Amino acid sequence: MEVANRIVKSKVPLSCFHLGNENFVLLLENQPVTPLVKELLKELNIQCQFESISLNLQFVLGVAVSSLQPDLSAVELLQKSNVALQHAKKHKQSFQIYEPQFDTNAMERLFLTNSLKNAIEQSELVLYYQPKLSLDTMTVSHMEALVRWEHPDKGLIPPDAFISIAEKTGQMDALTRWVTNEAINQYVKWRDSGLEINIAINISAENILDKSYPDFVIGLKEKHQLDNNAITLEVTEDAVVADPQKATEILGYLSDHGFKLSIDDYGTGYSSLAQLKQLPVQELKIDRSFVQHLSKDDSDKIIVKSTLELAHNLALSVVAEGIEDETTLLWLKEKGCELAQGYFISKPLPVETLNLWFEEMPYKLKRVVA
Ligand code: C2E
Ligand code: CA
Ligand code: CA
Repeated sequence: MEVANRIVKSKVPLSCFHLGNENFVLLLENQPVTPLVKELLKELNIQCQFESISLNLQFVLGVAVSSLQPDLSAVELLQKSNVALQHAKKHKQSFQIYEPQFDTNAMERLFLTNSLKNAIEQSELVLYYQPKLSLDTMTVSHMEALVRWEHPDKGLIPPDAFISIAEKTGQMDALTRWVTNEAINQYVKWRDSGLEINIAINISAENILDKSYPDFVIGLKEKHQLDNNAITLEVTEDAVVADPQKATEILGYLSDHGFKLSIDDYGTGYSSLAQLKQLPVQELKIDRSFVQHLSKDDSDKIIVKSTLELAHNLALSVVAEGIEDETTLLWLKEKGCELAQGYFISKPLPVETLNLWFEEMPYKLKRVVA
């Protein structure tokens, strides 16, 4: 209501329509549009006082200019402004005017959306593995499975380009099941060759809405007689925030069945450690944005050090991801961080390359104790 009031009272001449939720459509009939939009954002951005709370309001605007494309219908114009809005959000801008090239990205997404189903069925997906080092013994003891798409025409597509599509188009269940099956087969291969390497699998919000995926992965664990803690499931905070009660129940179910649970990208979400400690998780994974530049950034050092202390006080172990230099690795070891992951140790690699890397790396390998 406050936002609507501010828009209506704005000095910028416009008509305002409420689309629902937090979305408004503004119709401006004057040109040029950029100074008007800037003026509007300036008026809207003033802090909002609600009872004794001061709130920072945040706005993102997507703009489509009809005079640039006179043949467009109102519906098409709205679609273009939405494309511009998504572009602005993605690039963390406060506003963006529509440009035709954005649609080629949209076309690209459409193309990927349609071929993803085939990719999963026809196994165009591959897993890369990124090692994690146990810092107390400098032993490679864990791996994270990271999916890539080997597209027949487009080459290797990184997960950031298709995971969100899979999430939005209901394909996450199929994708996670494929990844899980593949990763567990690899675990068994390593185990049979005498290695004891925990594998971490990334799961999405959709996978913990009910017991369907949990029962699938529990079934695989039983089939292959995996030890408890052989598999880690990495889940992000936002997967939990959507429905904390349900998430707690499902994560508890997985934990009771011997899976290690880890909160991924810790520090980027909005939940506090106090909230997270209610969850049946055993591990925190500090997001790479706090780790990458740690050796040169004192405030990152403070954040990581206090996160380590808090986590340890709550009996959680800690993984630091995004380690890109030796100074950071040694600093984390000294501070008692349990596991380390990052390009300094190794980039994610396909299995064949990884097996070669084992031969030449300066670390030990964790072996099965007879
Ligand atoms: P994530 O789970 O945070 O995975 C770590 C990402 O950080 C990987 O990118 C990895 O290559 C990158 N990384 C590792 N070390 C460093 C480093 O030292 N410096 C820098 N700059 N980056 C580093 P990748 O493989 O492109 O994966 C991106 C994201 O895609 C993952 O982020 C994860 O959220 C998602 N993802 C990947 N595979 C799967 C999957 O099988 N299922 C689901 N649900 N998500 C997946
Ligand atoms: Ca992860
Ligand atoms: Ca992460």
